[in-house]
Amino acid sequence: MVSIGFLIAFMIAFWVFNDARKRGHEIGSALLWSIGTCALVVLVLPLYLMFGRRPQVNINKDRDVIDIEATVVSESSISCTMCGHKVNDDFNVCPYCGFTLRPKCKECGHQLSRSDKNCPNCQLPTDLK
Ligand SMILES: [Zn+2]
Ligand SMILES: [Zn+2]
Repeated sequence: MVSIGFLIAFMIAFWVFNDARKRGHEIGSALLWSIGTCALVVLVLPLYLMFGRRPQVNINKDRDVIDIEATVVSESSISCTMCGHKVNDDFNVCPYCGFTLRPKCKECGHQLSRSDKNCPNCQLPTDLK
């Protein structure tokens, strides 16, 4: 009778371990849950089902980082002339080095392109390097 009970507890602990790993727990934390379940299955299993199965925060953080990268490096990307990083075509300033990608005329505020020597609107020299 005792050995059957232990076997069931062990099987549940094994399931908890795999389940915890699938949900992004660290191997140590998954092991802790499964050891706890093995020792006190009646107490720890409900606790695990209530708290342990929540999505882990660090997974969401990783996803956010990937999303930011994806928005910076989009299909309409150009290379920053200063640092060479790929940046979105409609960015005004390079997010990596702060280089002004879309300079504006100091006099009239007209949007200039890097190759403009003079402002096409007011003809003032642009002093772009
Ligand atoms: Zn740059
Ligand atoms: Zn101008």
